[in-house]
This record gives sequence, C-alpha cells and structure tokens, in this order.
Amino acid sequence: MALDLNLKEFQVWFVTGSQHLYGEEALKQVEEDAKKVARFLDDTAEIPVSVVYKPVMTTSDSIRRLIAEANADEKCVGLMMWMHTFSPARMWIAGLNLLNKPYLHFHTQYYRDIPWGEIDMDYMNLHQSAHGDREFGFINARMRKTPKVVVGHWQDPETLQKVGVWTRVAAAWHDSQGARIARFGDNMRDVAVTEGNKVAAQIQFGYEVNAYSLGELIRHVEAATEAQINALLEEYEVSYTLTERVRAGGSKRSSLRDAAQIEVGLRSFLKEGGFKGFTTNFEDLVGLKQLPGLAVQRVMNDGYGFGAEGDWKTAALLRTMKVMNVGLEGGTSFMEDYVYHLDPAGSRILGAHMLEVCESIAAEKPILDVQALDIGGKENPARLIFTAPAGPALCASLIDLGNRFRMIVNKVDAVTPPADLPKLPVARVLWEPKPNLKVAAESWILSGGAHHSVFSQALTAEYVEDYCEMAGIEYVLIDEETEVRKLKQDLRVGEVYYHIAKGL
Ligand code: MN
Repeated sequence: MALDLNLKEFQVWFVTGSQHLYGEEALKQVEEDAKKVARFLDDTAEIPVSVVYKPVMTTSDSIRRLIAEANADEKCVGLMMWMHTFSPARMWIAGLNLLNKPYLHFHTQYYRDIPWGEIDMDYMNLHQSAHGDREFGFINARMRKTPKVVVGHWQDPETLQKVGVWTRVAAAWHDSQGARIARFGDNMRDVAVTEGNKVAAQIQFGYEVNAYSLGELIRHVEAATEAQINALLEEYEVSYTLTERVRAGGSKRSSLRDAAQIEVGLRSFLKEGGFKGFTTNFEDLVGLKQLPGLAVQRVMNDGYGFGAEGDWKTAALLRTMKVMNVGLEGGTSFMEDYVYHLDPAGSRILGAHMLEVCESIAAEKPILDVQALDIGGKENPARLIFTAPAGPALCASLIDLGNRFRMIVNKVDAVTPPADLPKLPVARVLWEPKPNLKVAAESWILSGGAHHSVFSQALTAEYVEDYCEMAGIEYVLIDEETEVRKLKQDLRVGEVYYHIAKGL
C-alpha cells in the first residue's frame, strides 16, 4: 500500500490576466480561451491536482479579493497566472503582497503557431502573452518574488510535465503546513548533523516537531489485541517471503510476533496523534523488546516520514517527498550512505540502514527475517530484506547551517549489485553518484550534506528545486555538470547572499 492521498482533492487556481483596452469582445474571447486551457490542464494525466478556472482579472481590486480567497481556501495549494493579452502589472501588486501560497507563472499562448496568411492586428492584440507575460515577469522581479516560470504551449507534453511537477510540489508544501512530526527520544548522542532548530524549521517549512516519551508508544503497543497481531502476521505471509525461522512454528516466530505487536502500537500512536512522520533512536528503547525495524519499514511505505536517530529533518522531508511521489512509478525512502566500492572502474556507494529502508523501493518481493543486530542492545529484530532496482535516482539531504537551511541533492544511478550479498541481512541500494564518486562525495562533504538522506527513484531534482524555491532555502545540486571549483564558489556566494538577504 502506498500513501493514501488523492491529489485531485487539491486545487490549483488558474488565473488569467487581461485589461479593458481591447473592448468587451476581446475579453470574452480571453475568457473562452482561458476556460479551455484550464479544462485541458484539469483533464491531463500529467497534472494530478484539480485545475480550477477563475474569472479573468482586469483590476487591482478583483485580484486582491481573489488572492485573499485563495489564501483562506483549505483546498487551494497554489495559483497559476497567465497573461493572455497585455495586462498592466501594477494591478497585481496589492494581490501579490498578500499572497501566501506558491504560484506558477504559466508563459503560454492560446495558439501554438502563427497563422501566417490570416494574422492581423486584432490577432496581435489578443494573443500577446509574449508581451503581457514579460510585464508580469517584471513585477515579480521588482517585488523580489520567484514563482516557477514554465514556458511552452499548453498542450506540449514537456510543458505539461513541468507544470505537473510543480503542482505535486505545491500539494506537498500544503501537506507540510501544520504537519505534526513525533520524536521518540532525542537525537543520537553527540551527533551534529541530525540537530537543528525546530522553531526555525516550523517558521520556514510549516511543520511542527514535538517529543513524546517512549512510554506513550509502549501504551499503544501493550493495547494491541491478539486479533490485530494475527491479522498483521497474515498480511506478512501474503506480502513477503518468510524465512524458515519466522514461519509458524519456526525458532524466531515469537520475535516476528513481537514485531507485529510493535507495528500495531506504532500505527495506533501515529493515527491517534494525527502524525505525518516520526523519528526513533536506538539509544532509547526502554520497554520495547526489539528495535522497530519491520514496523518502521511498513509504515514508511504507507506514507509516513521517518528519520532514524532522532533525525526529524529527514523524517519531515521524506513525508514531503512521499506526497510528491503519489501515483508515480518508483519509490522514495529514508537512506544512509553506508559503504564504498572504490574500484576505479566503477566507484559506487552501498546505501542501507541498520533496518529502516522503505519497501517502496524494493525490486522484488522482500524477504522477511529475524536476525541479530548488535546496535541497540535488544532482542533480534524483524526486518525486510531486498535490493532496489537499477535506474536513475536522487539523494536529498536537508541541513541546518545555523542561519539557514540548505538542501543538497545528488543525482545518482542505482545499479544492480555485481554479485549476491548473502550475508547482508538488510534492505540496500547500490548507486553510482553523478558525475562520479570522487567529485560527488567531495562536493557533498564540502556542502555539509548528511549521511542520512531521502532516496527517490520516482522524483527528479526538479521537484526538490521547486520545493526549495517555495520554502525559500538554499539549493545545492550535484549532477553531471558539477565541478568542485565552481561548487565552492557557489557555496561562498550563498554564504554572502543569505547573510545579507536574511541575516543571522
Ligand atoms: Mn543512521
């Protein structure tokens, strides 16, 4: 099961700008065209949210009222603006000053081609977004606003794809406003990168992070009924390949039963509190028989954000990226850079965690087993074991630099391991970072990227970049074009920019 969220319930409002200069006739045509475009966008599979047509805007007052409405509307996750004709942009100032939701500047034109034999001055006046959208672009630049700008004909698949990406990010942004992330225990002792300012994060991203004692989770675990536990055990039988020792009558069956009980309790806790993500810490497991591995893997697959060792930033980011991921091919998981393969003929990174990798990235039916784990000092935990499929992917890491948040993204290619890993009892991915391991790892380390990340085979870097623009945070991309010297320069420029633009 994936995240149970219907993106069609979210709305993007389609707003067209014009003016009265060309007469009522022209405005009627603008309205008709805009309705057709909005309907087409609403119907296209590339755009998962509802696109809702709004009346053509020609005055400052109507724009201000519309924006106030959008701000207050629970379903509206953002707006798309398009200037069908020329539209003097000062009328947008009052509205844009109020707007507190993301918006996209859709630079399109009703007709794709110039009708060479027919074109006259009426046509020129009606279809001049080339001109009107530049005026709108100026006012955004003048007001230091950075909407996403998408250029292209509204039926062009490439254009639709870009709009679709942004709508998914807008829905995810909306989802994170007021989202609740639960932490069990604090950060792993002495660790630096999983720390951060929770108040700053709430101001910047909209989600809140609060601590809960493990006792509250234990209360839910203890309340699990036999029927609930048995139902889960049955679900495991159907979904996974169980090893001999965890099957009914096997030597580790009781450990699997304990894991199922933990899962019942964890789900109950998350549901009761209305949480969208959570963290655990293996240093704080009092009252739990084993480290929650299987339970974490399975609730992550249902769309909960997760970060190990108290890593709430990654937990919240994973939830956000899982919302973007709804309905797309490929999965998204909590991840950790673990071990290198430093063969110059193909340097690679083996990513995994102690246990907690989401089965949404499994290439095959996972194996369910109970095996020893030295960390945590508890009984042997249950876990799903699998390998992720080959293909393009990314790793994203969010860090707190004290005066700002920085997102680091590395484009990677997941590859099939060249041999079996019969003694490695955890879920894993092998990947080749772009442009290569040496440059990627040097750039990641210079940028301060964490060992924890969100790994996605469904999303491209464009999603994360759009998210960073919405959040107003620094974005560092490591891809095929990265050069360390240039990256260092970019980091220095960012240091100055954020110091001046936002202060300490
Ligand atoms: Mn870790």
